[in-house]
Amino acid sequence: MNRSATAGEQRGAPRDGDRARQILLGLVAGVLLGLAARALGRWEPGWWPVCEAVSRHVLEPLGQVFLRLLLLVVVPLVGVSVVSGALELGRGQRWGRLTTSTFGLFVMNMAVAVGLGLLVMNLWAPGRGLPGEAVRQLYEGGTIQSDRSWEARRPELTPGMLLEMLLPRNWLGAVVDFQILPLITFALLFGFAARSLPGETAERVRTMTNDLGRVLFRMVEVTMRLAPVAVAALISAAVLRVGPDLLAMLAGFVAAVMIAMLLHLGVLALWVRLLGGRSLTGFYRAVRLALITAFSTSSSAATLPTSLAVARDRLGVHPGTAGFVLPLGATLNMSGTALYEGCVVLLVAQVHGVTLSWMDQVTLLVLAVLGAVAVASVPGASLPVIMGLLAQFRLPPEGVMLVLGVDRILDMARTTLNVAADLVTVCIADRVVGPGRVAGETQTAGEG
Ligand code: ASP
Repeated sequence: MNRSATAGEQRGAPRDGDRARQILLGLVAGVLLGLAARALGRWEPGWWPVCEAVSRHVLEPLGQVFLRLLLLVVVPLVGVSVVSGALELGRGQRWGRLTTSTFGLFVMNMAVAVGLGLLVMNLWAPGRGLPGEAVRQLYEGGTIQSDRSWEARRPELTPGMLLEMLLPRNWLGAVVDFQILPLITFALLFGFAARSLPGETAERVRTMTNDLGRVLFRMVEVTMRLAPVAVAALISAAVLRVGPDLLAMLAGFVAAVMIAMLLHLGVLALWVRLLGGRSLTGFYRAVRLALITAFSTSSSAATLPTSLAVARDRLGVHPGTAGFVLPLGATLNMSGTALYEGCVVLLVAQVHGVTLSWMDQVTLLVLAVLGAVAVASVPGASLPVIMGLLAQFRLPPEGVMLVLGVDRILDMARTTLNVAADLVTVCIADRVVGPGRVAGETQTAGEG
């Protein structure tokens, strides 16, 4: 999909910075409110039932409204995004080496990122720190709702199971059950079929899908306006119920994700040096404006114009290569997002005392990469896809609320990683397409 923000949509970027601050404020206010209510209930036991009633009948339903509004757009948003992606693929003129190297790097980049995320989460296991009693209280309070029948039905990567996951007998039933993969299969086939139609018809489908996508993104954007209050409500209710254990678990999760992201940055740095043939300091100096934009807008789409300018003017990449790789990268190549998806699924599994086997985790790696491809390049876009992934593993989709309070901080970090990976890819692809020219221009690259 052409998810690049239009001029009007980009004007939303500063407001978006305000929203990030508001959500952070909501998080802090929620934590303080939860701790204060907990202290009050301990100090004066007569107040405990009052605090609990407010939490159960006011705060938790308030948070649920936000979550359910997000759930509302999961299916259409993923469907429309993938159809648009498939349609856009047909537009590239420069196939051959450029296409192969670009897509090869995209897949490798995301697979390595998820692998590192899973490795750190397995070693650190922050979700295991939450005592069983605390998890029980999250369920009893209705903060997490689930039929808890997922355990016996987790997917495994056998050929039969893979067929069932991609092309289930009851396709509609699977989609209604928030299974993302069958939806992706349908949307890809639909997109490729539309692309093969005569030019004008394909163009009409492309325009229609882009417009639908815009409407759905707007729904997400409007829902996100509720985020500061919803985060405050959900976090205060959870802290009241579970206490400081939850905060310690979240701090561990943020640290684990950050460490995995830093490790992946290390891998990207190696790629810059070895595959891109560039100096690290020169590369960093050239791309830092795009990285800061990504960090402050949490949107790869809103960063795309800056990335394009940086690639052409500061990195000296051929405009044709930049014009092919970067829009596709902003849409498909999301290593930070893929890494994060894998980490959240493992966290929710750990909190529920579920051990995912090696095979389960390989399945998770594949699904996280596919899921990241389907994520739109706007703030908070991975939340609906993570809900779908959790459902795919028969974990409660509402488990995503565990990380909601810290999602925005991690969104800033993962978007920066997404954009960094796109810029690394464009350098390597440019070198593959025309090594002599790039080598000649590397000198000027770092001067910005
Ligand atoms: N905000 C991310 C991006 O634009 C997507 C996400 O992971 O939510 O790249």
